[in-house]
Amino acid sequence: MTAVRFVTAKRILTRQKGGFLTQGVYPYTHTLSWAAGCGFGSIYCGKYCYAAVMPNWLYNKQAGEQWGDAVILKQNAPELLAVELAKAKNRSEMRIFMSSVTDPYQPLERKHRLTRRCLDVFAQYDDLDLLVIQTRSPLVIDDAELIASIPYAWLSMTLETDLGDLPYGPSSNHVRQRLDAIKTCAEAGVNVQITVSPCLPYSPEFADVLANSGAKRVVVDTFVEGDGSSGERTANSPFAEKAGYDWRSGDPARDLYAELQARSVDVGWSANGFAGIPPRQQMLDLKSG
Ligand code: SF4
Repeated sequence: MTAVRFVTAKRILTRQKGGFLTQGVYPYTHTLSWAAGCGFGSIYCGKYCYAAVMPNWLYNKQAGEQWGDAVILKQNAPELLAVELAKAKNRSEMRIFMSSVTDPYQPLERKHRLTRRCLDVFAQYDDLDLLVIQTRSPLVIDDAELIASIPYAWLSMTLETDLGDLPYGPSSNHVRQRLDAIKTCAEAGVNVQITVSPCLPYSPEFADVLANSGAKRVVVDTFVEGDGSSGERTANSPFAEKAGYDWRSGDPARDLYAELQARSVDVGWSANGFAGIPPRQQMLDLKSG
């Protein structure tokens, strides 16, 4: 059972001055995370989640809690967002990643709707450059129409594999549900990308599954390039003990990348892929040009 606590935060948008999300061609300017901790911390991805070793969680270790034991909600996130967006002088340059250290559609969202209330705030503005909503949860379909109404919003769905029988892996149902959510959101008019991050062992059909998913682009990443420490964080994680395969090898991810390219999928690699969605004006010029 995940403990839930509430705090009143002072700020909600975190300016990005360096790090993974700034390393691509089109870097993010801000992140937005309405929680410290993650309600998915006890499932398989929590075993290798780099957010478990980030400062905004580690301060909480004094409470003796492990990653997944607790989630601390910034209960005033939507109100702070409204103030910060109203005051922002450079909204047209804002590229926001929601969320880098938690999942915006973790189970608690069903009750507290902090993501939905933040989206309601974003929907009042049409002049930001980019909002990426990064999740692994099919719960996002509840907000498909709201996301579609925000002209600069993208859904980014994590799908690390299409297999369901890995010892540490997702159930096949969950893979199916995520694929269904991608399709539902794409049909509702949402821009969707899939992040195969980190790339886990997959079936020979995975490239076709991704190519036919309805997503507009795919990002492929590896443990070594994507964990922010050249694989060290993963090596020290509970996942590394149980993986039972050479998770350091990037070959399967590179093979998948090549297979997607061969299918003419818009595919990006690791940090360049994450920070690879062009500015809105550039995409509009391309469409009209
Ligand atoms: S959903 Fe994301 S933030 Fe949450 S435990 Fe899994 S990898 Fe970490």
